Amino acid sequence: MSKGTPSFGKRNKVVHIRCRRCGRHSFNIGKGRCAHCGFGETKKWRKYNWLKPKKFLA
Ligand SMILES: [Zn+2]
Repeated sequence: MSKGTPSFGKRNKVVHIRCRRCGRHSFNIGKGRCAHCGFGETKKWRKYNWLKPKKFLA
């Protein structure tokens, strides 16, 4: 199996849904938290130093 386009056809499981805090399609159903803003994991927004402040608009 390759990692490119042919294997994307197997990705038929819904892992992320729309996050109701950040609005992105990043809320992981299994983990119950948002991969983008950390909703469900932390009350504060998920933030890292390596995130560009420009891109991260709270
Ligand atoms: Zn979110």
